[in-house]
Amino acid sequence: MKEKLALMIPGPTPVPERVLQALGQHPIGHRTPEFQDIVNKTTELLKWLHQTKQDVLTITGSGTAAMEAGIINTLSKGDKVICGENGKFGERWVKVAKAYGLNVQVVKADWGQPLNPEEFKVLLDQDEDIRAVILTHSETSTGVINDLKEISKHVSQHKNAITIADCVTSLGATNVPMDEWHLDVVASGSQKGYMIPPGLSFVALSKKAWKANERSDLPKFYLDLRSYKKSGDKNSNPFTPSVNIYFALQEALEMMKEEGLENIFRRHNKHKEATQAAMEAIGLKLFAAKGFGSPSVTAIEPKGIDADVIRNYIKENFDILLAGGQDHLKGKVFRIGHLGFVNDRDILTVISSIEVTLIQLNILEKPIGSGVAAAAAILTD
Ligand SMILES: *Cc1c(COP(=O)(O)O)cnc(C)c1O
Repeated sequence: MKEKLALMIPGPTPVPERVLQALGQHPIGHRTPEFQDIVNKTTELLKWLHQTKQDVLTITGSGTAAMEAGIINTLSKGDKVICGENGKFGERWVKVAKAYGLNVQVVKADWGQPLNPEEFKVLLDQDEDIRAVILTHSETSTGVINDLKEISKHVSQHKNAITIADCVTSLGATNVPMDEWHLDVVASGSQKGYMIPPGLSFVALSKKAWKANERSDLPKFYLDLRSYKKSGDKNSNPFTPSVNIYFALQEALEMMKEEGLENIFRRHNKHKEATQAAMEAIGLKLFAAKGFGSPSVTAIEPKGIDADVIRNYIKENFDILLAGGQDHLKGKVFRIGHLGFVNDRDILTVISSIEVTLIQLNILEKPIGSGVAAAAAILTD
């Protein structure tokens, strides 16, 4: 039953009925008062979601566009930057920074381990010329959450540096209070915690980021955020935006507002904990270091079997799509997305499907139901 395929990957994530219906309307003119009203409302709700009074701009493009925009609008050729790298997305920001001729210093951690905030502090203390720290909050490729709050604290004490954070799988899943944490650039994308299809991305900028923008000389046109700011102040867009995804955005943000930030964070945390507890009870190893599991994705490292065999069995037999490992983790891990429009039933379903799969593959080491029982204890708490 391919029509019933459940997405349990860390993006694109499942889309609620209400949002699908919003999406299925006729497009309207993007220079009309009706559309301006949508831009106005979504901008206010985006500020609420980012817990900020600063600007949140909407770009038609994927999450990478928002990150690239953040980088090229605040930095200049040859600027010294520190990139945190402990997974695939961390690697991507190093590549973008290098592509624009930035002078990149990399702070690394092994895949599965979190970045060490102290290493950023040491480098920042030594050099007043550093202009940015670029990092990923929730490293989707490994299921690790980095200590963005602590790293950003060190950056905020530095004279020149700003924090540019990829919050693509943390925003809308866990607390990312932009103003309270002194984050300068926060990037996210529609197909993740927002519960809408791919197509829009969001970049929020602090006053310090706009200050940095004044001296930024990197080339830009489509992603020149000054033009987004200028149009945004008139509830408009510099180019034709993805109008229908905007309809969906408004609906999804209203759903999020109805649920409330605290409830959204609590739900994601509970699903993370239930998934982790279940995998351990089944006898499967968690890939992320203890205490650093991402709220939106759990990576699992099964022993003695290709992880893709488990993943493919689940897709073929239970119509649940899980994510595989990337690069050197291919076949070594599979990843369960629990981001966005996910409820307790989804979690119980995926756990029981994994248990049955392991039985069928003859590798279940624990009594059947161990995972479900461990998850249920947390979900019903
Ligand atoms: C999905 C994702 C992105 C954005 O990727 P796009 O394919 O450009 O939308 C960026 N960072 C992280 C951590 C992600 O999970």
